[in-house]
Amino acid sequence: MIPSVLPTYSRAPLHFVKGEGSWLIEEDGRRFLDLGSGIAVAALGHSNPIVVNALTDQAQKLWHVSNLYEIPQQQALADALVDATFADTVFFTNSGTESTELGVKMVRKYWYEKGQPDRVEIITFTGAFHGRSSAAIAAAPTEKMVKGFGPLLPGFKQLPFGDLDALKAAVTDKTAAILIEPIQGEGGIHVLPDDHMKALRQICDDTGTLLIFDEIQCGMGRTGRLFAHEWAGVTPDVMLVAKGIGGGFPLGAVLATEDAASGMVAGTHGSTYGGNPLGCAVGLAVVRAITEDGFLDGVRRKASALRQKLEGLVADNPEIFEEVRGQGFMLGLRTKVAPVDFVKAGYAEELITVPAADNVVRLLPALTLSEDEIAEAIDRLDRTAKRMASA
Ligand SMILES: *Cc1c(COP(=O)(O)O)cnc(C)c1O
Repeated sequence: MIPSVLPTYSRAPLHFVKGEGSWLIEEDGRRFLDLGSGIAVAALGHSNPIVVNALTDQAQKLWHVSNLYEIPQQQALADALVDATFADTVFFTNSGTESTELGVKMVRKYWYEKGQPDRVEIITFTGAFHGRSSAAIAAAPTEKMVKGFGPLLPGFKQLPFGDLDALKAAVTDKTAAILIEPIQGEGGIHVLPDDHMKALRQICDDTGTLLIFDEIQCGMGRTGRLFAHEWAGVTPDVMLVAKGIGGGFPLGAVLATEDAASGMVAGTHGSTYGGNPLGCAVGLAVVRAITEDGFLDGVRRKASALRQKLEGLVADNPEIFEEVRGQGFMLGLRTKVAPVDFVKAGYAEELITVPAADNVVRLLPALTLSEDEIAEAIDRLDRTAKRMASA
């Protein structure tokens, strides 16, 4: 008999009833150190008073109005994002997938309005993940995600991640945009080197092609900068955001330059919930906290301490770990055991980590993780590795 919840997930038998900062409390009272943050979502940790207060204050006043009316919370959040980034304009969504959808629509509409309606192709990369809608699975067509779901949305071309020569050869007068994660998350924490980011921008500038960064996982302070592309000193034309921006409230955004967004006039796109007062009040609190003086300095400092300790952990447990990679608090431990087995063994040490492709266990802690919690994380990772080595 089919379960009452559609069985599309394989779930661990853990029932969390409360969250406090970097800790999740199980029904039975066990306290788990959470190095996953709900997959890079709870950027400020669980039950952070900053977001709890933003949510409850707004909840007392007004939860929802339609985008038929002006929404001051949405205006304030858009202004804050425009102030802090390359972007001139923002559309709010409820999830990463919806941000991908609009990104695809926006770049196609751009070329249509420029009188090049055939310029529809979007180039993506192996190992990418952009969500689960029909456009998003066409953009990153792994077998498990696309098999049986055809016909796929046409107009996507996938190239090897990081192969600039292949990219140069693939961009034609049919290419609307290049869509890439500056750091692949689900694909196994692959960081696109700065010189590749710069070369991508150059190829786009030379050909007029639009550049879309999917910063749904690597953005919102995760790498120690507000957005990961800032490290390379290049900017996109369009950027997809979600996960961390709501701190746990379903919120996403598409940021764009005025030119890239120029085709999106009244009536061309919309969302019932996207940008509603509740979501935007929370999003504004998150953005303000992350952009506050010193916050990202703290993330960088703590992340480099964690990184250093992880190098030691890998060296101490060569039968389990191969390497640590990533940037800031977006880290991957490449394992010699199956990552799902490592994640499961972690549960016995009251530790939450997240598996990814390419034999990687992801560490995506809250940006508020403390020095003491870093030491605790290393301890628990080490105990998990020893547990697996002796099994
Ligand atoms: C999670 C994720 C998405 C999809 O976001 P949802 O909110 O699950 O729809 C898209 N791209 C990247 C890089 C992601 O990490």
